[in-house]
Amino acid sequence: MLDLIIRGGNVVTPDGAGEKDVGIQGEQIAVIAAPGTLEVEAKRTIDANGKIVLPGGIEPHTHIGVNVPDYWAGGKTEVYTQPPESASRAAAFGGVTTFIDFAGNLPLTAGQAPPADPIMGLVDARRRLFEGHSYTDFAFHYILAGAVSPQTIGEIGEAIESGVASFKIFTTFFARCPTGHLWEIFQEVAKAGGIMAVHAEEDDIVTYMEEKLKREGRDQGYNLHLVHNNISEDLAFRKVIRLAEQTETGIYFVHTTAEEGVIAVAEARAKQLPIYGETLHNYLEFTCEDYKKPEGLAIHTYPAIKFAKDRDALQQGLVDGPMCTTATDEWTTYKDVKLSGDTVTTLCGGHNGIETRMPVTYAKMVSTGRISLERFAEITSTNAAKILGMYPQKGAIAVGSDADIVLFDPDANKKLTLDDLHADSDYSIWEGFQTTGYPVTTILRGKVIVENGQLLGSASDGRWLNRKVSPSVLARPAC
Ligand SMILES: [Zn+2]
Repeated sequence: MLDLIIRGGNVVTPDGAGEKDVGIQGEQIAVIAAPGTLEVEAKRTIDANGKIVLPGGIEPHTHIGVNVPDYWAGGKTEVYTQPPESASRAAAFGGVTTFIDFAGNLPLTAGQAPPADPIMGLVDARRRLFEGHSYTDFAFHYILAGAVSPQTIGEIGEAIESGVASFKIFTTFFARCPTGHLWEIFQEVAKAGGIMAVHAEEDDIVTYMEEKLKREGRDQGYNLHLVHNNISEDLAFRKVIRLAEQTETGIYFVHTTAEEGVIAVAEARAKQLPIYGETLHNYLEFTCEDYKKPEGLAIHTYPAIKFAKDRDALQQGLVDGPMCTTATDEWTTYKDVKLSGDTVTTLCGGHNGIETRMPVTYAKMVSTGRISLERFAEITSTNAAKILGMYPQKGAIAVGSDADIVLFDPDANKKLTLDDLHADSDYSIWEGFQTTGYPVTTILRGKVIVENGQLLGSASDGRWLNRKVSPSVLARPAC
């Protein structure tokens, strides 16, 4: 007797999409069979006729329950992005079953070393904030910010052994990591079999342009793409790729924004370097022209939304491969915080995107005929699982994998409104966006956590994930 059978759906497995029945026992997928051939009883059967059955979404880039810097919050110091309960609830409604957030200290002063607390101590502290408060599974990239101390760099190998597979560095902002430190970190991460998640911008260009636009009275927020600009991404991606090549390190470029970034990743992959690109779903829709609309700055996520040619290159990158994943850089606040600053140095980053990523990507990429359902599963789930060390436990509808599944209704066409969303927020940049399909049922490790608009899961369902990157992912482009 199985616990659950999902019958009659168009199931997207690593072997392709097709009508299949999926049997679940406990927390895992136990059997996948041709329709009508699964002659086993089950405690419950879900009729998935007319639905697409996909691996649960993996959101590889969130900032949940973190302090918003005062310069992004109109001078206020005690403002936080939405907490795990509401972020993971929104995730579950959006078909997401796993997200990767961050742990680690930031420097107190730009360019300096942050407090050298033990890496695993900070990971465990962050785990405690999420355990019992998350409807979905979760993990953390570890942030190595500023002039990281030799002590912290010395703990990287042990952290990777303990299941922290990925390390985030910034090449700009107050958390920027100097190049010498970066080189050393890359060597340590490569040696121990981890992967780098890199926010790559050329800091000299960014700070020069901030000062230039201020001097010229042109530092309005709608000029952010002139600060966090195309040449900055071009230079920074290429410098990081060269360091990665020299140290034989795998790189996951977070939030690629520009055609130059897509090309740099594509060229590296053509040389068989293990370089992977992420882009964000708001970058697939908007351009810097939209910044000028009323409250248009709400669409902004750093680095910056660029031109139509860049948006088109990012979409094409998801078709061709250099762009491997879609993420949100989830950073949910209320509108008064999001729009409290309106200059190139004070505009708050991010938006409440975790719930809209899958339906927006579907509308932009699948319904337009740009990509197949198989590719949709890759860029919303499978590739993130592979690159960030969770595959095949996560990211696949396959026997033995966790039964993380989303039922997607391709006939659910609606104009999105704030009322459709479940975040702790009072605005949506997707107001009026026409969906062409929507997640209707979300299953986490065999448990139905959202069904037909009802939240059935518990905030104690989510678990921290121990991750390990496959050597094949670090050897050459594996997805
Ligand atoms: Zn981020």
